[in-house]
Formats: sequence, structure tokens, C-alpha cells
Amino acid sequence: MLNTNHIRKEFPIYQEREGLVYLDSASTTQKPQCVIDSVSSFYSNYNANVHRALYEIGEKATNEFESVRLKIKKFLKVPDSHEVIFTRSSTESINLVAYSWGISNLNKDNGVLVTEMEHHSNLVPWQIISERTSSKLRYLPLEKNGTLDLSSIEIDLNETGLLAMVHQSNVFGTINPISKIVDLAKSKGVLTLIDGAQAVPHFAVDISKIDCDFYVFSGHKMVGPTGVGVLIGRKTILEKMDPFLGGGEMINNVTMDKSTWNEIPWKFEAGTPNIAQVIGLGRAIEFIESIGIKNIQQHEDQLLNYGIDELSKIEGMELYGNPSNRGAVIPFNIQNVHSHDLAKFLDTDKICIRAGHHCAQPIMNVLGISASARASFYLYNDAHDIDNLVKSIVKTAKILA
Ligand SMILES: *Cc1c(COP(=O)(O)O)cnc(C)c1O
Repeated sequence: MLNTNHIRKEFPIYQEREGLVYLDSASTTQKPQCVIDSVSSFYSNYNANVHRALYEIGEKATNEFESVRLKIKKFLKVPDSHEVIFTRSSTESINLVAYSWGISNLNKDNGVLVTEMEHHSNLVPWQIISERTSSKLRYLPLEKNGTLDLSSIEIDLNETGLLAMVHQSNVFGTINPISKIVDLAKSKGVLTLIDGAQAVPHFAVDISKIDCDFYVFSGHKMVGPTGVGVLIGRKTILEKMDPFLGGGEMINNVTMDKSTWNEIPWKFEAGTPNIAQVIGLGRAIEFIESIGIKNIQQHEDQLLNYGIDELSKIEGMELYGNPSNRGAVIPFNIQNVHSHDLAKFLDTDKICIRAGHHCAQPIMNVLGISASARASFYLYNDAHDIDNLVKSIVKTAKILA
């Protein structure tokens, strides 16, 4: 296990709020001091716009900003740093692909294939674009055990232009067999978009091995700042795509009636970018690397197993899904207690969990419930957090059930 006493010293929120039991990292993660400092240091020491300033602090800002692209290339084994595009979030990254690629490539003869396990951000954009392009949106089915039914995927990939699916589920923690599925899609000429918002923070991701066409993730779920996300795209496809947003930065030459576009990735980064947040994301990656992504994964695995063991001992506990390959996310309900009430009561013991539909209402429909509680773990959590969670649930159930 990781030394969480040592790790928590790096996270100021644990000093500010003694006794905090934060179990909602699938929603957003806490931030270490070094990430907070890197954001603040940009504003206090070298605040300037990037890519245009002809003075020292502007050059420093540009260098720090662009160095994060290289850091991401190395961290995720992206073939070319020009394939790394900065956005505001996973949601924006997916919308970029939906609008720039989707509008000109989807039609009534091909459509998008998603899964019933998707976060709304990898679902709603495709609903919008499918309607605009009169293309079909189809679903790979989800089983109650939290895994996908892939028995008919070969047939489902017919008449499909793009397969868009999640790497690790934010509800069940299921880690989908992405490499196998991407290979299958490629053999059928279908493009692939992988939502890695819950994958990149928790285990080693190798983009060159997966070899998908698009991959997205968010900074704030990996101890980085809010307001920064990443889209990784295959160079040959990005070069052919139309811009998403127009404005400064993304142009090469502008006349009164026509403009030409900058090369990738800047073609997709219109306007002044989120400089401070990108720099903070770079520091977050360094922080994760200093602990080791494999160590983080092992730590989470142990917490997951302990959590499942301890929670399942509670009377009236219902745990949802049981995928064999999964990350540290546990969805559950206590008989006769609404998850919102549970979360409110746990909060009085300084325990933070998520309650609701987890931005994935279709999953709740498959399970036949309207909401669930969810505990999710990260590198700063330990077995005491789980013991506290269990104690507080038992106490609450006595009062409410
Ligand atoms: C959080 C999450 C998203 C959306 O990320 P944002 O940062 O809110 O855009 C997408 N997919 C999954 C699986 C997530 O957990």
C-alpha cells in the first residue's frame, strides 16, 4: 500500500478539514500543493499570453505550456506531440470530434455505435449529431453484472462510422477490453473514440498500443486543475478535419473573405488557451509519475477488495455489478434508504460520497433503479476511510431504514 499519511501531507485540504473522508474521486480529485502552486506561480511570476509574445515572460509561458504537450506524449506514449490537443474537458474533447468530424462524416448509411455504459458526455453529443446528420445512434448492450455484452459486436460494427466508448466505467469501474475492441473496429474500417476520463488517472495507458483514432481525458480527475481536458487524435484524421471553433491562434492567414488554418494541434485551439490549467496538468502528471502509476493502481486494487469485503458485510447492502477487471469504484444501495439521504447523513461524519445517477441514466435503467450511492477511491484514500464509511452507513441505516 502507498503511505497515505505521507501523501495526504501534500494535499492541503486534508490539513484544512481534519477528519475529511473523501470518497468521490470519480467525480473530481483533490489537488496537491505542487499543482496549486504551479497555477499560482504562472499568474504571479510569468503571466503572459502564449505563442505571440516577443518578450521573456511570454516565451517562458509558451515554453511551459508547450512542454506539457511533450509530457503527455511521453506519459501516454502518444506517437506525435502534434496529436495532443488541449481542450476544457473530456466533454469538450468529445464535442470537438462530434462537430468537426461527425457533421461531415456521418450520414444515413453510417452511424455512431456507443455502449449503454457511457457517461452522458459520450452520449448526448452523439444524440445531437445523429439527429443533425440523420445518422443512426446504436448501443452495445450492458449486462446487469456491469460488463458489456459483446456477442454481437461484429454485426453491430456494420454500417458504423465511429465506435465511441468508455475505457473504465465511472459507475461500475469496469475496465473494458479496449485493445481487442479497437482491433475489431479497425478490421471493419470503423473509427474509434475512447473516453479515458477514468482510465488515465488510475492505470498505465499506452496510446500507441491501443492505436485508437481519438482518446480523451480530463485534468481534474487526475489531481490536476479543472478547466483542462485533452483530445488525442490520429494525425492523418485531424489534418483532414474542419476546425471546431474559429478565432485567434487557429489561423494561418486571414483576409477579408477567407482564412487558412494553422497546423495541428493549434488548428483546434482557438483563442487564448487555458494556460494556467494546462501548466497545472503538467505538474499533476509529474506528481503521479513521482508516486508511480503502477503503485497507484495496486493501492486502489487493495482498497477496492477491502471495500467490497467490508461493505458486503452490512445488512441490507446491495452492491451493483461484479466485473472481473475493474477499478476502485463501488456503486451500492442500502435497502429502504434513498442514496441522497444516505449521502446527506454521511456528510455529517465528514464523509463525501456521490449519490444519484452518476451522469449515466441509461445504466440506472438497466439496473432498474433510479439512483445509487457510489464510493470511489484514489491515491490518498486508505483502509480507515473504508472503516469510517462502513461505520457511518451502519449508523445511518439504523436511523433511516
Ligand atoms: C467525468 C467523466 C466524463 C466527463 O468529464 P468532464 O471533465 O466532466 O468533461 C466523461 N466520461 C467519464 C467516464 C467520466 O468519468
